[in-house]
Amino acid sequence: MTLFSALTAAKGQIDRLDARLLLQYATGCSHADLLARPETPLMAPAWQQFAEWVARRAAGEPLAYLVGEAEFRGRVFQVSPAVLIPRPETELLIELALDKMRQRTAPKVVDLGTGSGIVAISLALECRAAAVSAVDLSAPALDVARSNAGRLGAEVDFRHGDWFAPLVGQCFDVIVANPPYVAAGDPHLALNGLPHEPQMALTDQEAGGDGLACIRRIVADAPAHLAPGGWLLFEHGYDQGEASRNLLTAAGFQAASTYPDLAGIDRVTAGYL
Ligand code: GLN
Repeated sequence: MTLFSALTAAKGQIDRLDARLLLQYATGCSHADLLARPETPLMAPAWQQFAEWVARRAAGEPLAYLVGEAEFRGRVFQVSPAVLIPRPETELLIELALDKMRQRTAPKVVDLGTGSGIVAISLALECRAAAVSAVDLSAPALDVARSNAGRLGAEVDFRHGDWFAPLVGQCFDVIVANPPYVAAGDPHLALNGLPHEPQMALTDQEAGGDGLACIRRIVADAPAHLAPGGWLLFEHGYDQGEASRNLLTAAGFQAASTYPDLAGIDRVTAGYL
């Protein structure tokens, strides 16, 4: 078995780029090695690892869970099936939050439903003056987030609990969240590896609901935790912009606005108190 024949064996079973990446992870070879020395023999353990991953990938497991990591905003984050895999569109939430944070000298920020920690950690690393907290209801997710913060050198105060529950008496300049917002029963939940991801991070699981249950709770409870002029920003689904702005306005927020991601899809809504 060589690098070349391993790739050939995966052909037709999984995507070509996935096959190449899995082979690199299984062997420790670079892309350049694969191109320059395709005749390099594969050791048995590497071949076994690769063959197992190809079979699991072919059955729908996301690549990030197989190799245990994913890139976001130029940094590598560890992931496990306890956390959502980073989505590139979440960069919009980071950009908008950084813009609000940089208008203050030492902003206090909290990330609700932090998962792998990508939002809280990116904000802490890209605005060193900020004091960043992060909350998650899932203890296994918090373990992943804490380990990511440690490896990436980010200082984040992690709290275990339900949305604002572990933040009693605390006020923030910026509150950010990428909450579950896919409506229960959305056919999308059965596609693209989503069944392998934590359902509690994707959907509020409210039968017949509109996917906005968590956003409603966050909007309702945020005013008690915002400093004067403080901002709330959250990610949502492509068709939830108008409903999100209405929720913010009804809760007394100013300037409720929705921003599109790089694909032109409504993705983040923000307002201030
Ligand atoms: N954007 C993700 C998806 O469509 C959902 C992320 C979330 O619910 N926060 O798969």
